[in-house]
Amino acid sequence: MDPSSLPPELARFHRQMLLPAVGVEGQRRLASAHAAIVGVGALGSVVADLLCRAGVGTLTLVDRDVVELTNLQRQTLYDQRDVGTPKVEAAARRLGAINSSCRVYAEIEDLHGEVAERVLGLLGPPDSRPGVLIDGADNFELRFLLNDLSVKHGVPLVYAGAVGSAGTQGTFTPALGGPCLRCVLGEPPEGGAAAAGGTCDTAGIFAPVSMIVAACQAADAIKLLLGRADLLSGTLLSMDLMANQRRRVDLRGSRDPDCPCCGQRRFEFLAARRGSGATVLCGRNSVQIGATRPMSGDLLALHDHLRRAGVQRLEHAESLVRCALEGGHGLTVFADGRAIISGTTDVQLARSLYARYVGA
Ligand SMILES: [Zn+2]
Repeated sequence: MDPSSLPPELARFHRQMLLPAVGVEGQRRLASAHAAIVGVGALGSVVADLLCRAGVGTLTLVDRDVVELTNLQRQTLYDQRDVGTPKVEAAARRLGAINSSCRVYAEIEDLHGEVAERVLGLLGPPDSRPGVLIDGADNFELRFLLNDLSVKHGVPLVYAGAVGSAGTQGTFTPALGGPCLRCVLGEPPEGGAAAAGGTCDTAGIFAPVSMIVAACQAADAIKLLLGRADLLSGTLLSMDLMANQRRRVDLRGSRDPDCPCCGQRRFEFLAARRGSGATVLCGRNSVQIGATRPMSGDLLALHDHLRRAGVQRLEHAESLVRCALEGGHGLTVFADGRAIISGTTDVQLARSLYARYVGA
């Protein structure tokens, strides 16, 4: 295959088309493929970059946050000029400069059950729907919502998570008889990511590990979009780059017949209404984040977690944990799961502080 003999729209992919699994036919297939990436942070920005360069024709990007200076250590789509810009807008601009034939839908959205199917294009004509859902989420509610969508619509879920120097990656194809994410992970941890060992904002993140698991996500997404599910490993890969540990767990045979999602087809996260939404508390310069799940047994864990994160004026009472955050904000988390962020009436900012310090 001589690059100069290829049509111009294919020439740039010459080195990729030399791969037996791709070829000219596979490259054309990628050009008509659609991938939805939810969360364009440490994971999603790397996956979006690789899929755009690989010639995937359509990308839907969903994220609720703006680029912050502390993101630049690992979120490779962004640079200093993007600080303060919504991530999906900065990402779309950068991807357009990398490969202008890639169509990018940029959605600034705190994705939830009422809008998710529409925003991700799952209700469109079959040939326009995403062929993969890519998990770049930073919280369990969103991750389990993606799993509900994966099972309900029969779209593979390409999962990864990274925190500290540890990362995990696995791809779930319940429509092909494999387990779903919930079969393997069970229930989201009470108290969210904080109780499960931290979030990137509090436990830190080693950029090489998020890059590796994101690259594994991109590889699986490309295999699926090529129609080559047979090339998936069928394993959950875990690693810790500081501890130099790596292991694979076989996912075959781990489908749970009693799984509420793929076994009973109850899509609880998709059906959840925004009862757990945020409300501005009139006259108090505060925003309340509704309960997502009771915290009772986990207030102590949250307290320890916040102490390690180095927050100021941390207090733990029987029914609440309270502390001061940067920027003059305050955080109070109640045993029933509600939280109040003081010092702002900006719901997006309050949600973002909540996600950063409490997790899901
Ligand atoms: Zn399941």
